[in-house]
Amino acid sequence: MIPVTKPFLPPKNEYDQLIDQIWQRNWLTNNGPLVNELELKLKANLNLEHLLFTTNGTIALQMAIKALDLKGEIITTPFSYVATTSSIVWEGCTPVFADIVSERLTIDPTKIEALISEKTSAILATHVYGIPCHVEEIEAIAKKNGLKVVYDAAHAFGTSYKGQSLLSYGDISTLSTHATKLFHTIEGGAVIANDPALLKRLAYLRNFGHDGADRFNGVGINGKNSEFHAAMGLANLPYIDNIIEKRKEDSAQYDAWLLDKGLMRPAIPADTLYNYSYYPIIFKTEQDCVKVFDALAKHEIFARRYFYPSLAKLDYIVKRQTTPVCDNIAPRVLCLPLYFNLTQSEIDLICRLILRTLKY
Ligand SMILES: *Cc1c(COP(=O)(O)O)cnc(C)c1O
Repeated sequence: MIPVTKPFLPPKNEYDQLIDQIWQRNWLTNNGPLVNELELKLKANLNLEHLLFTTNGTIALQMAIKALDLKGEIITTPFSYVATTSSIVWEGCTPVFADIVSERLTIDPTKIEALISEKTSAILATHVYGIPCHVEEIEAIAKKNGLKVVYDAAHAFGTSYKGQSLLSYGDISTLSTHATKLFHTIEGGAVIANDPALLKRLAYLRNFGHDGADRFNGVGINGKNSEFHAAMGLANLPYIDNIIEKRKEDSAQYDAWLLDKGLMRPAIPADTLYNYSYYPIIFKTEQDCVKVFDALAKHEIFARRYFYPSLAKLDYIVKRQTTPVCDNIAPRVLCLPLYFNLTQSEIDLICRLILRTLKY
């Protein structure tokens, strides 16, 4: 069986050593030493000023919306994981979908301004597959119209754009470190903000609003993460460069098989150091995409239709927009298996099956 992804697991003794520390200290959660160490190492690794480790990437998004006090309408992308949209709705805001650009599959900045109304408070865009959004254009639109910018950077660990971690853009960026993500802590995530006051707000939000044992600074939630999750992150972090390098090689092998056969991949913009977090392929038709999906499944190879259907089609969306580019592309995209232990011969097998199915 070849799944679309398999979590990287560090050598068990390296994880065990960290777990032994937990037993010695008897400190399991609530901002413990391993959580602190992970936050410091992530900030150093990503060259970020501020970062808070959270329960998961969805709570990180919800905390971002709360911290910026967003209300009314939030302009967002229809091409992402469902958590991007559901977090907006969960926080009582209304998602308004701007279409995507066909090359990068990220939000189209030229479609944003027409959607801005007096109810709009923010733009929430996803660096989908770790590919940078048009961050300069988005920032300019936000500035001009007095909007906040939140990036769902769940896929963006390890991508840098113009020499800076992609996680450093926007008022707040959120990360997921779920087991299926490039860098993982089993479950987990992070919020990243450049403004220290905003970070302080996020820190209160993460811990019930606690300001000492019996004082509270506003309403909060439990967005903390545990020593065990931090331990997995600390054990995984030394391998991240190898993990990204291996995925780069695998992606090049897929490219060599598939790209000159008329299959397409989203374009990585210039000035980007890419993280190879996914291998999406865009077929000419939905029929081709489904045929390939089924043919692979027959051989116990499980690709995923990330991200399908378009989030603009969710049944709890009240404000419908037309997003023809997303409607056209989302049904034709398939993410192929990509993980650390994937072998060259497995990639060859997958590509042969794809080309045979399409009769190329
Ligand atoms: C994984 C993911 C999330 C949610 O992260 P969790 O840690 O699973 O809560 C949000 N947005 C995107 C784009 C994701 O891929």
